[in-house]
Amino acid sequence: SSFPYYTLGTIVHGLGRGGKELGCPTANFDENAVAKLPSSIYQGVYYGWAKLLIPDDNQVYKMVTSVGTNPFYNGEKKTMETHILHKFTKDFYGETVKIVLLGEIRKMTTFNSASELVDAIQNDISIANNKLDSEECRQYLTGPFFQ
Ligand code: ADP
Ligand code: MG
Repeated sequence: SSFPYYTLGTIVHGLGRGGKELGCPTANFDENAVAKLPSSIYQGVYYGWAKLLIPDDNQVYKMVTSVGTNPFYNGEKKTMETHILHKFTKDFYGETVKIVLLGEIRKMTTFNSASELVDAIQNDISIANNKLDSEECRQYLTGPFFQ
């Protein structure tokens, strides 16, 4: 299987669509991190853990990551975008973020309306939140990648 898939990258500016205006900011990884993705991980939504490599933040957070071309927005570029299940007081563009993808939630698809997309994202977050409470997922918190 493709999981666990460990990677890291720099957070860049996305197109500013979706994200915060849908109540769900996504930290977009640089194109090098996208290029490194194995072909077995494509066009879907995944759950896992994320850690920001910034001083004074040693936490490992629950996250959902979307990989794909964002068909609802007629995207052409493949992106990898992580929503962290935590309320941050400021943005972290330019910072390095480490993630581990542990499993797939669903395939990427388009939606008939923005509200259907928002509902799907909220459902993704809820699934990730539950799955990441399992001992099987929590074991990755103490592994060497996040130390
Ligand atoms: P962009 O199109 O530039 O990616 P977004 O609306 O998706 O814009 O917002 C993403 C930015 O919001 C991230 O790069 C990060 O700096 C910030 N941010 C704040 N809180 C979060 C969070 N909980 N998860 C992910 N990114 C967050
Ligand atoms: Mg984004």
